[in-house]
Amino acid sequence: MTETTTDAASAAGRPERTRIERYDPSAIEPRWQQRWEELALHRTDLQNTRERYYLLTMYPYPSGDIHIGHWYIKTPTDAIARYRRMHGKNVFLPIGFDAFGLPAENAAIKNQINPRDWTMSNIANMRRQLRQMGATFDWDAEVVTCDPDYYRWNQWFFLQFLKAGLAYRAKSPVDWCPNDGTLAREQVEGADRHCWRCGAKVEKRELDQWYLKVTKYADELLDFSEIHFPDPVRIQQTNWIGRSEGGEIVFETAPSDHHAGGEEIRVFTTRPDTLFGATFMVLAPEHPLVATLTAPDRRAEVEAYVARAEAETEIERLSGDREKTGVSIGADAINPVNGERIPIFVADYVLAGYGTGAIMAVPAHDERDYAFAERFGLPIRRVVAEPGTEHEDLSEAYIAHSADEVLVNSGEFNGLGADEGGRRIVASLEERGKARAAVTYRLRDWLISRQRYWGTPIPVIHCDRCGIVPVPDEDLPVLLPETVDYEGSGVNPLTRDEAFLNVACPNCDGPARRETDTMDTFIDSSWYWYRYLSPHKPDGPIDPDMVETWTPVEQYTGGAEHAVMHLLYAREFTKMMRDIGLVQQNEPWKRVFNQGQILGADGERMSKSRGNVQDPDELVRRYGADTVRLFLMFMGPWDQGGPWSPSGIGGVHRFLNRVWTIVLDPHGVEPGDPDSGVLPAGETEADARATLRSAAHRTLRDVTADYEGFRFNTMVAKLMELSNTLMRYRGTGVAGSAEWEEAVRLLLLMLSPAAPHVTEELWSRRLAATGAEWSSIHAERWPEVDATAIAETTREVPIQVNGKLRDKLIVPVSIDPAELERLVLASPKVAAILGGRAPDRIVAAGGGKLVNIVLRDGG
Ligand SMILES: [Zn+2]
Ligand SMILES: [Zn+2]
Repeated sequence: MTETTTDAASAAGRPERTRIERYDPSAIEPRWQQRWEELALHRTDLQNTRERYYLLTMYPYPSGDIHIGHWYIKTPTDAIARYRRMHGKNVFLPIGFDAFGLPAENAAIKNQINPRDWTMSNIANMRRQLRQMGATFDWDAEVVTCDPDYYRWNQWFFLQFLKAGLAYRAKSPVDWCPNDGTLAREQVEGADRHCWRCGAKVEKRELDQWYLKVTKYADELLDFSEIHFPDPVRIQQTNWIGRSEGGEIVFETAPSDHHAGGEEIRVFTTRPDTLFGATFMVLAPEHPLVATLTAPDRRAEVEAYVARAEAETEIERLSGDREKTGVSIGADAINPVNGERIPIFVADYVLAGYGTGAIMAVPAHDERDYAFAERFGLPIRRVVAEPGTEHEDLSEAYIAHSADEVLVNSGEFNGLGADEGGRRIVASLEERGKARAAVTYRLRDWLISRQRYWGTPIPVIHCDRCGIVPVPDEDLPVLLPETVDYEGSGVNPLTRDEAFLNVACPNCDGPARRETDTMDTFIDSSWYWYRYLSPHKPDGPIDPDMVETWTPVEQYTGGAEHAVMHLLYAREFTKMMRDIGLVQQNEPWKRVFNQGQILGADGERMSKSRGNVQDPDELVRRYGADTVRLFLMFMGPWDQGGPWSPSGIGGVHRFLNRVWTIVLDPHGVEPGDPDSGVLPAGETEADARATLRSAAHRTLRDVTADYEGFRFNTMVAKLMELSNTLMRYRGTGVAGSAEWEEAVRLLLLMLSPAAPHVTEELWSRRLAATGAEWSSIHAERWPEVDATAIAETTREVPIQVNGKLRDKLIVPVSIDPAELERLVLASPKVAAILGGRAPDRIVAAGGGKLVNIVLRDGG
């Protein structure tokens, strides 16, 4: 393979600029991709469990196109895989498709095609696009969740959970989107409660639904000791689980003209420390005691208010910025902690469906209570304060909860810390039967029923005689019908499919009907990395030995938007799998890294409807996959993302061109540049070679640390610097030296995980030039830093005369004292001060780190 052709040497003795083949990614990249596939570079021998490294990236949804956001997630992940392989790791980097779900169904309805056809043709296109990245995905392990070989195991899991009491059916109010049917709580977004997927206003409906009993794991899920999440995810999950210690407090009604008193009103509070600050109570309009407690002269007004509240939606009632309304019912309650009578109101900001439908109102320490108290002129009594601030007037509710706060205006509990005080107050009321310590969680059981077609059918049968009958294991999978009829009412065509619906009861053989709900697709994504390890296993969902050996997954990469959805569901699912004896581990993954999100140029989420999607194919055609990969790594810290801007991609492309030139044309010079091919003045060739070697090894040290920390942007910047250093010595006597060759070799090796094609090409040309047999750069070991090359060779010595700094000298690290003294006295600045006099003493402090010249008669 001829790499260069050199014209006749010029008269000056310098070679003319060599003509080398242009860097043309389109000629290189497909060739190497094919070669890697032939070599099975990407294929992992899962039986070889030595040095195993399971690298998982969130599997894509088959929306139709791979967009630049997929590249942003996947190509640095591939760089990690290649980097780890160079450390001798047996890396497993599988890929699959999250193939069930609403977009396919919506597209199918819109285009009148089958969701399966839509999904599978998208997957075919995405496979092609994913291959263009040059990523080393192990396609042999591919998993597609709409494949019956996959979803039958969702059904199997469900039946196991049902047997173990971890799945159950219950009637309950659900959040209902008119387009998407039932939503999980976390799929309802914003104060206006809209659907996460389509944005429609969410309603409440009462339905029989299937649940997984994940609240069982609430406390365990708060233990993050075996899983490393980025802080924001850990914090979001902690808040989502929402453990709060508090108490249920019993207030009694006070006797009055119209009422004997003694009725119990229970409230739950997470702030029992503020009980002395309760200056009124509020009942929900629906609270059963409203009717009995209301005084006769208040009845008309209260009834009118209750009727108005019932006509309003919860959304309207809970809206934060709305003026607080309410009416007094003309009765009092007795605060059990101090025997004080406090008035009872009815107000619509308290809901009957949440908690007990009654609250103790502490206006000093709750925003809504504060607004209400202001409006109705009720007392505001501060009971928690940092010492010395308890007499300051409040202009708003004081809800800060710092460690310094103590109880004030709280009788015998004054001076206690808030947490301690709260516990003591509950304990003292408990003795009198007026309170019960209670822990509550925000976490709810996982609602998995969806009234849609394109998902895993829930494998149960409804029989009039036998009730709910699980589908026997041997009848799995319950297949989704191939063709569906979207004409007709309701979002779920399964409810109209008689062939699907009608079935013999497995128990009594009588006529029965299949369940038509399908599963939340977050079930599919809760265990797919276990399936990757035995994707075709016919007699079980996972291979327990493989799972035991290869998981928890070493490293998982994906988006932070899944913090309280996928990243929490999957933890719950693994714990459920453990509890039915399927796996032994507590967590699915060891470490999770959230890369940022690439937004459209307009700063909005990329979507076809907004027209702000960047097509990577177009960039690949223009610059090649390596430039696109490298540019995405270079544009900023990986965990930050940001709006897409292609400016700068040209610079990255020029960098790869520079590498191309350095490797293939080391002796060339830039025509018209007089500095090109000449060493800088004063730099000897020996100095230059040492400088180059030092630069190469420093870069290796820093780039290694950057790969380890996923700091790809600084990694690329450092490789660019090294290429600049090489460029400076191109065409000089340094080019082609042993140090040059070493630096070029290191540059290619360091760049190879990030830009795999061009480095492979240049590597192969170098091998060919020396007549060596070809072997892939991606089979090379990661180089080792030579500490001697980066050791400091010189140091700076401050020179003082009578304690005053006069000069600084750069000297070799190993300089001997006599030589140092000679250099100091030779300094022009020092010589000028001495003016020919001999110094009285020369002190080299700190082993020569600082030199002081003592001159008795001044200086
Ligand atoms: Zn919706
Ligand atoms: Zn039956």
